[in-house]
Amino acid sequence: MAPSAPSPQPDVFEAAAAGNLEAIKDLGRIHLEAKNDRGWTPLMFAARYGHVSIVEFLLSAAKVDPKVQNKDGKTAADLAEFWGSLEAVAVFDRLAPNSTTKPKTQQSTASPFAAPATTPSEVTATASGTTSTVSETVGGAKSRLAEWWKRRRVYETEPVHFSGGTHNRLSFLRTDKEYLQASIQASSSRYLILADHGVMFKSTTKHLAFASYNDISHLIGKNPLTDLPDGMVLVFLGADESPETASNIPQVTLVNGRRGLGYWALDLSAKGPGVKQETKDAIEQFLNAFPEKHGHYMAEMRPAAFSLSSPEGGLVAQARSVIDWNKRSRFCTGCGQKNLSLDGGHKRTCPPTLLENGVEKASDCLAHKGVQNFTYPRTDPVVIVCVISQDGERVLLGRQAVWPKGMYSCLAGFVEPGESLEEAARREVKEEAGVHLGHVMYHSSQPWPFPNSLMVGCHAEALNEDFDVTKEDQELEEAKWFSRQEILDALNGSRGVNWGMPSEDGGLRLPPRTAIAHHILKAWAAQKGEMLQPKM
Ligand SMILES: [Zn+2]
Repeated sequence: MAPSAPSPQPDVFEAAAAGNLEAIKDLGRIHLEAKNDRGWTPLMFAARYGHVSIVEFLLSAAKVDPKVQNKDGKTAADLAEFWGSLEAVAVFDRLAPNSTTKPKTQQSTASPFAAPATTPSEVTATASGTTSTVSETVGGAKSRLAEWWKRRRVYETEPVHFSGGTHNRLSFLRTDKEYLQASIQASSSRYLILADHGVMFKSTTKHLAFASYNDISHLIGKNPLTDLPDGMVLVFLGADESPETASNIPQVTLVNGRRGLGYWALDLSAKGPGVKQETKDAIEQFLNAFPEKHGHYMAEMRPAAFSLSSPEGGLVAQARSVIDWNKRSRFCTGCGQKNLSLDGGHKRTCPPTLLENGVEKASDCLAHKGVQNFTYPRTDPVVIVCVISQDGERVLLGRQAVWPKGMYSCLAGFVEPGESLEEAARREVKEEAGVHLGHVMYHSSQPWPFPNSLMVGCHAEALNEDFDVTKEDQELEEAKWFSRQEILDALNGSRGVNWGMPSEDGGLRLPPRTAIAHHILKAWAAQKGEMLQPKM
């Protein structure tokens, strides 16, 4: 650009990012070739946001240079590909085929992210230069990523532990006090009993045990929605409304026109300030007598809940997470008053009034201003990433010093506020291992009720293979690239049994199938069609 060039109209980048072709057409060449302070051109913004008509106009009519790089060394075609703007990638393939900085050899066969060659029929489909539909225009780019998506679909068939609850959560009925009260007292309703970290199980099977309203009514009283004694938490989980249940369990209750088996969770930890001695005594008596009388027992949620089947695993995950949140949210974070439980245990709020020197007055807590007057159960997302090498044949795993010998797993970390899942994955892997990620693709997720995480399983493309676990956050003791065969052997063999098992021969051990790391590794490892026969 000539030194005397006027500064570009400020909205040229905005117009390109927003897809405003008419505005772009009105601008002169000097604006269309302008760069912002990060070296981004209008073509890059249009490519990044997938505005095909602008990319086409800039490449064919305005003839801007497609090989211009921004300050990160990326061309517009690189950005289109990086951000998955498939139609834009197709336009670059057609109008400016050599405008990416990636060597063509990298885009050939081996990488899971690479493209098969564009077929003649795809060339025909895109040759008209029109952009009427995605399927007609994305050409090589479409086949490049479609192949990856096709493979992904195969692997999302297995339910992941702690998901798969079959009860209807009936979230829209949580405000219906009449319904909840009727469900509480229904003779068919089932109460899952929790205390501290324990849950009531049937002793002879891998199943949850339940109490009835009659069994626990002396503890919770007649109006537990408003007058539950301190030291207990009651949560409405939903109802089993399946026709099988209705026909097989004759006493299933009709509640306000809905027929179903109500599920509740009752926590009897009796901890914290304000718990009366009589409540503690009643709970102790119940926990000492009831399970034993019925052949049940209280077991630590971890590891006992890992033996449950899918529907019961889903039920206990919901119960544990919501109860834990209630126990940790007893007091308003704005003013410290004891807050009120609403919506069957799924919402809490600061009381509108408070007692000061025996006089009731309106609360001036900040919780009553704006829209933040309620708190809801938390779900904390954690990204867990299967990091794949450029040749598609190896994965990067890490281990923490406290893990059993030989145990490795995928890299993981909490998503921070103001961060996308992809950004969190890139940051965590860079901080833990010094490896930079390109594409990040979601695979599947897993509720993790210890106490309230959601594990978000991803596959990601490593841009470099050299790593260093000591440089930044030092969470890992070691990281290592493993071949597909090593992963398959560990998944199929006897080593990947359990986190708690003692070391056997010191070989690679992977998380069991109750953990999502197992599934995202298996999804990658099985890409070549090997038959997996996991024994865990
Ligand atoms: Zn408050």
